[in-house]
Amino acid sequence: GGVDDHILQTRGLTMEFHGFVAVRNVDLNVRRHTIHALIGPNGAGKTTCFNLLTKFLTPTGGSIVFNGRDVTRTGPAAMARLGMVRSFQISSIFPHLTVIENVRMALQRKLGTSFHFWKPKRSLYPLHVRADELIEWVGLETYRDTLAGDLSYGRKRVLELATTLALDPELLLLDEPMAGLGHEDIGRVAELVRRVSEGRTVLMVEHNLDVVSDLSDTITVLTRGSILAEGDYASVSQNPAVREAYIGG
Ligand code: ADP
Repeated sequence: GGVDDHILQTRGLTMEFHGFVAVRNVDLNVRRHTIHALIGPNGAGKTTCFNLLTKFLTPTGGSIVFNGRDVTRTGPAAMARLGMVRSFQISSIFPHLTVIENVRMALQRKLGTSFHFWKPKRSLYPLHVRADELIEWVGLETYRDTLAGDLSYGRKRVLELATTLALDPELLLLDEPMAGLGHEDIGRVAELVRRVSEGRTVLMVEHNLDVVSDLSDTITVLTRGSILAEGDYASVSQNPAVREAYIGG
């Protein structure tokens, strides 16, 4: 594989907080149309790394390249336009709107227009069709006209994923997609993430190692801000240094 296989790369990515280096010289290579997981023990630098990639933080060193373009200093809104979107922020759902209305809002945002209620209904037809397709795709059709605020926690997360997919991202960044979910919802969200990755790339921070082993093509293990190991689950889980980091941590 050449450089075109990679949708996202970092070189020497570094984040220093008042003298404390939380992320040190990280070279990340995320291949297109794969699921890539970032794991590591507490304090390893996963959250900081994720916040650098999602542009919530600006690195103190190194660079980030997305689709061959240096985006080290590009903000989150511009990244969304370029095709990189962070998901799983329940707070982005409007609880007083229905499921279908939430998805339509997201599609409207993607079109870069505000709601124009005076427009003839016909002009919104494709958007309505797309909204229903998305709801069906994520399996929320039964809840189409339910207020988002009345959904279970797991279904709120599925709705959030639908509103993120409405933005049609090439790269989806997921922050602990399974956090707080029960067994059944984990299975549901895992299946969705797998289907999302068929035409897109997924990068996630996830603590649930069963999910990580199940879903990930590539796993990067961080410890003390640096990459300790990288590869598929079989190779990283058999790596003595990784075992040591998790057990002897
Ligand atoms: P993880 O998500 O793997 O548990 P974090 O990225 O949250 O790790 O934290 C890595 C290290 O960086 C920790 O030691 C943490 O205390 C430190 N850290 C994170 N954010 C800040 C900050 N804003 N200021 C100072 N130290 C920080």
